Amino acid sequence: MIKKKNSPKYIFVLGGVISGVGKGVTASSMGKILQDRGYTVTSIKIDPYVNVDAGTMNPTEHGEVFVLDDGYETDQDMGNYERFLNTTLTSDNYMTTGRVYQGVIEKERSMFYKGACVQVVPHVPLEVISRIKTAQKKAKADCVMIEIGGTIGEYENILFLEAARMMKSETPDDVACVVVSYMPIPSTIGEMKTKPTQHAVRTLQASGLWPDMIVARSVLPLDAKRKEKLSFFCNVKPDQIISAPDVKSIYDIPINFEKENVGDILCEVLALPKRHANYKKGELNRIAWGKFVNKVHTSKTEVKIAIIGKYFDTGDFMLSDAYLSVIEAIKHSAYSLNKKPVISWINSGEFEVSKSKTLAMVRKSLKDLSNYDGVIVPGGFGARGVAGKLEAVKYVRENKIPYLGICYGMQLAVIEYARNVAGVRDATSKELDSDALHQVITIMESQKEKVEKENYGGSMRLGNYKAKLLDKSIIAKAYGNNVITERHRHRYEVNNEYVDTLKEKGLVFSGTSPDGKLMEFIELPKKAHPFFVATQAHPEFKSHPLSPHPLFVAFIKASSR
Ligand code: GLN
Repeated sequence: MIKKKNSPKYIFVLGGVISGVGKGVTASSMGKILQDRGYTVTSIKIDPYVNVDAGTMNPTEHGEVFVLDDGYETDQDMGNYERFLNTTLTSDNYMTTGRVYQGVIEKERSMFYKGACVQVVPHVPLEVISRIKTAQKKAKADCVMIEIGGTIGEYENILFLEAARMMKSETPDDVACVVVSYMPIPSTIGEMKTKPTQHAVRTLQASGLWPDMIVARSVLPLDAKRKEKLSFFCNVKPDQIISAPDVKSIYDIPINFEKENVGDILCEVLALPKRHANYKKGELNRIAWGKFVNKVHTSKTEVKIAIIGKYFDTGDFMLSDAYLSVIEAIKHSAYSLNKKPVISWINSGEFEVSKSKTLAMVRKSLKDLSNYDGVIVPGGFGARGVAGKLEAVKYVRENKIPYLGICYGMQLAVIEYARNVAGVRDATSKELDSDALHQVITIMESQKEKVEKENYGGSMRLGNYKAKLLDKSIIAKAYGNNVITERHRHRYEVNNEYVDTLKEKGLVFSGTSPDGKLMEFIELPKKAHPFFVATQAHPEFKSHPLSPHPLFVAFIKASSR
């Protein structure tokens, strides 16, 4: 095989045994390690489902929908990549089975294949490879991290494994395969078991691939005995088997991986120089990361934040996945201020009178909000849980608890203010009651036809939009700028017919679209409330450990007072 000089390197990250053991964080951490060595890194996430993007999926089923600058609605792992690599990614960095097939079918319809019989193999994996290479070229990346969703052995991701196999057989020195696998420690046995991973690797071998590295995820570190066993049965050198026990913070992982020599091993496997001309820049990044992680471990003064949402339940379990970026943004800003964030998730249903609850019970749980230093109502859709959110917003406004409203959290704050301060008693949103008289939140003009035609996929107001901020407002001070750009994901907006009434009653519209037509931010003056700020945008998507988001920093500062 001819070794190409300076050819880009591709690292496939695959999951063994079960999902949810941190493939995304592993891929992000490995990318970060290579970045610290001065390499330009980009990341790709492949999701095997048929949906063309993640936008139409219920968050309780799939977790957060992460929106990119260009408006593409993706999986939450894309957020991990942006946060770990301190970068922004584009729709070229994400694909699903649906999107790949859509691409193949469009090409076929335009005679791209020149009359050939278009087949699942090789045409589909070739389309995958072409997309991977496009992302590499656009990012001018030395190294591309590619996470294949799901686990080895699933029917769904087989065509993506085939793409990896095709790439590895063509340029073996440029392609590495990392298997992130789970080692259970059954309580009845009390011993860490390697057998499930052995099976996963055998199944991978049946696809013509083999691991260059195994990341052994478990509650505890891997001992020498199990390392030997895995090495013997999986054809991987013992030093290429990485112990990855549970950690206190995901941001520890790049540092732990360096201790396990992951960077050197990857460079060796990929025939990359262990250092690079640009190493100095990477070194600065590494130091900044170390400082951040140090704060994660040493910050003592607590700041208690409540997130009031509704996408928490899955069967008998509670998951916070739907609000991942909000949670991470709180952490970034709190640690940057040397504060220890204590985050609680509250189901907004708790603040609603129901068959099982009396008004007294609801009042009591609303009072519990006083135990928090700050409250966030994040994005959301539909009527379920809204009544409770409105009660909570009223409570924090009246009791002067710092409040940050995000997207739906801003729309509901406007409704609450209209109802309880501006005297529009039956104020509501068109999303909640399409025939209501006082729709203080209404559908955007550009969205009407889409909703009528039931064109729901990728059709919201999505991605980056500019806003101009009011001079000397709380938010302008926080951003340190009067023109800002944030990512969006919504169909509804403040109804301008009510803006004057709300203004007269003290609500400040402190940020609008550049043409002044769309209300992007609201706030209450400092003399009325210590921190009552909300935005139509999703600032959480732009917060990174090394660049905490200014709005979250301002919110945590206010919450710490
Ligand atoms: N449901 C609201 C809208 O579509 C808010 C969306 C959100 O919070 N992301 O406008």
